[in-house]
Amino acid sequence: MSTKYIFVTGGVTSSLGKGIISASLAKLLQARGFSVTIQKLDPYINIDPGTMNPYEHGECYVTEDGAETDLDLGHYERFLNVSTSQANNVTTGKIYQAVINKERRGDYLGKTVQIIPHITDEIKRRVKLLGKNNKYDFVITEIGGTVGDIESLPFVEAVRQLKWEMPDKTLVIHLTLVPYLAAAGELKTKPTQHSVKMLLENGIQPDILVLRTEKSLTQEIRKKVALFCNVDINSVIESKDVSTIYEVPLLMHKEKLDTTVLAKLKVESNKEPELKPWIDFITNLKNPQHEITIALVGKYVELVDAYKSINESLIHAAAMNKCKVHIKRIHSENITEENVEEKLKGVNGILVAPGFGHRGIEGKIAAVKLARENNIPFFGICLGMQCAVIEFGRHILNLTDAHSTEMNHDTKNPVIDIMEEQKQISEKGGTMRLGAYPCSLSKNTKTYQAYKKLEISERHRHRYEFNNHYLELYKKNGMVPVGINVDTNLVEIIEIPTHKWFVGVQFHPEYKSTVLNPHPLFVAFIKAAIS
Ligand code: GLN
Repeated sequence: MSTKYIFVTGGVTSSLGKGIISASLAKLLQARGFSVTIQKLDPYINIDPGTMNPYEHGECYVTEDGAETDLDLGHYERFLNVSTSQANNVTTGKIYQAVINKERRGDYLGKTVQIIPHITDEIKRRVKLLGKNNKYDFVITEIGGTVGDIESLPFVEAVRQLKWEMPDKTLVIHLTLVPYLAAAGELKTKPTQHSVKMLLENGIQPDILVLRTEKSLTQEIRKKVALFCNVDINSVIESKDVSTIYEVPLLMHKEKLDTTVLAKLKVESNKEPELKPWIDFITNLKNPQHEITIALVGKYVELVDAYKSINESLIHAAAMNKCKVHIKRIHSENITEENVEEKLKGVNGILVAPGFGHRGIEGKIAAVKLARENNIPFFGICLGMQCAVIEFGRHILNLTDAHSTEMNHDTKNPVIDIMEEQKQISEKGGTMRLGAYPCSLSKNTKTYQAYKKLEISERHRHRYEFNNHYLELYKKNGMVPVGINVDTNLVEIIEIPTHKWFVGVQFHPEYKSTVLNPHPLFVAFIKAAIS
């Protein structure tokens, strides 16, 4: 079948969950046997979110091919269980960069280069790129931002043009908010009406409206929205708040979002979506037999989105273990040698998060020490692993000034040091060791027990590494490298074999955990925390 393009826009306010709605629709179409991919268009000027502070935009999600992308791509992968790539996240920065490069090459042959048609053409090209050779039955494109923002205008205009050019192959879903006014005791549709008007001003009639709401929509409200917004009543879809995002696909199915989309695009599908594995996951999630608390030690803990993938990986792994996990977020800047015991009291496992820079590093190291000395299951990810190496160096190997040269350039014991290939690099954007690299595991280790295979591949995002100069010393004293990249000899995983479960990884396992494929290391970590 020829590729169909579905656009998801948002109105009234941000944070309505366009990413989750896109991923849920994709899931339903995939569960009916269609091939689907999801793309995010972000209206900011950064080339990618790689250089942004997590406070700005939440976590930076890394794809197999090493793109630093918006965290919504994480939702797409977790829901669909298929990989995304560079092409799945396009920013205004990338669009302008491509157009300006073309202009400098002289490709525009003396023409004045303008937002319309040159910028919009480039946007359209990026959308259609995913539909090339009809590789996918559906390309779902989520437009970041809110309709009415100056920044998203070129994207909205590109959608208008695509809809005009391919009326039978395109569909626009608009997500809005129907607020409940407690004082009036009523749900209000006016913001939705206004937001659809704004889309209409931009030349787009949405085909389907998804209304985010706290309370169920009455038939009256649905009728009213349908009438005022020129859509049929079946195209008014309710999206009520739920306790877990993973319920949204089921909710959307109940609201017949998938059936309506297929009918509008005239795509036949006689079978119901195969959602049994998904429902099994939710059943496990909602009927736990155990309950544990994991401390997540990091410096962006005020913002759940900053560690989104770790959060979700813990949930996937807990469900697999029929366990409820409470995630206790602890700010590493507030942890000291003196208060660490009290701060981490009663937790069943400690996860030290990835990160950059000096802030909060000593608190992370104190948390590692507590885990190591008290046989508390420990999972260190990227900087978390590096902290474990530093802690071991300082307190077991008596290298009292052991550090990473990222934090202390002049330390006499640089147990973590900059990678050779990074030494000449000064630009910050997209220059880390990024994306998937292979890693060979040692047998008879906790890691091998988790993966049950010797060759693995994981995604990376770092500049510093374990300093192999210290390898023998660490090994002799009980911290063992159990995963190595054989091409570069880079230590990817360390363990303390005498500890109940103490694993540090230089890569980011959290990017690969999905609902139907929870990550083996997270599963093993949770298991250790339960026992
Ligand atoms: N700052 C460390 C490095 O660059 C760790 C990076 C991370 O945790 N992602 O090596």
